[in-house]
Amino acid sequence: MIYRTPGYCRDFRCIAGDCRDSCCKGWEIDIDDEAAARYAAAAGEFGERLRRNIENGSFVLTEDERCPFLNDGGLCDIYINLGRESLCHICSEHPRYYEWFGSVKEGGTGLCCEASAKLILSQPFTLCEVEVSDEEAAGEYDGELFSLLLEARTAMLDAVNAEELPIGRALAQVLDIAEEAQQYIDIPDAPHGACTDISEAEKEIFRCFSELEPIDREWLPYIKSCEEKLPSAPLHSEEHTPYLRRIAAYFIFRYVMKSVYDGNVLGYAAFAAVSTVFISWLYRCGSTEEKPCGFEECAVIAKNYSKETEYCEENMEKLLRLSETGTVFDISTLKLLIADSFGENVDNI
Ligand code: SF4
Repeated sequence: MIYRTPGYCRDFRCIAGDCRDSCCKGWEIDIDDEAAARYAAAAGEFGERLRRNIENGSFVLTEDERCPFLNDGGLCDIYINLGRESLCHICSEHPRYYEWFGSVKEGGTGLCCEASAKLILSQPFTLCEVEVSDEEAAGEYDGELFSLLLEARTAMLDAVNAEELPIGRALAQVLDIAEEAQQYIDIPDAPHGACTDISEAEKEIFRCFSELEPIDREWLPYIKSCEEKLPSAPLHSEEHTPYLRRIAAYFIFRYVMKSVYDGNVLGYAAFAAVSTVFISWLYRCGSTEEKPCGFEECAVIAKNYSKETEYCEENMEKLLRLSETGTVFDISTLKLLIADSFGENVDNI
């Protein structure tokens, strides 16, 4: 079968002890059955320690929500004592993600990880394909719809990758392509009543993000302070455009093909557009007139956004539902916000 990934994935390396926001903190870590059996059979003092720190199929986190096996040097004691092959599935795979479509497997590394976020932002988006042995993990899907969505996604990726196309126009084009593809699947609902007041639409977007389940306790105060800063923040800096193109490409690649299973191509495209616009606002809030926020900060901001949205199933569901019911995820409102954010006319594409 074909395995398709973004080009940057082959360069991914976990930075372990150097990671400032380790994935071994702040998350429930579920132990798969195979790893649970290995841990149950582990010998000696370390085996005892393992079993003392497992409850109801998960590691018992410390008071400050660290994995009990994350040592003070930021390294994993299970890896050190039992080897890489003894890690549970989630620990050996994170931050990789996969999706299967018959004879095609797609995957990548998630934006929620510091090392991966830096890779995603640092290079133009490309795709690689390799042959891998067959895996049976695909659900049922419509082959004709798959081809149509693949064509639509390629056009979306071409738009955000095209340096001659201003970023705002590229995002508006992504929405137009998604709307056309959605019409093949079903007739999209009539607009929910587009919002024509930019500052109201901005407030509504901040409200939506503030109502999500917070993952990190610093996130809500942070976006609240950005909401206050945004009206007087510097305008979009062209220095951020390449990062935003790559972020948009990441979301488009990762999510649009999922619509072959649930038919929500417009929802996924709107999520990619809203995410890119929202991250551009956070970049502006971290900048001064003299100095746009730099690469490291841009990667951290994108990583934090990803953690708070796409790495919480409940939050992701809420955001995708908004595209069906909320006025701010309405295409014409989004185009207004895009035009305002990037100072471009995106009406007649
Ligand atoms: S978040 Fe990424 S870099 Fe940090 S420990 Fe996890 S996999 Fe490694």
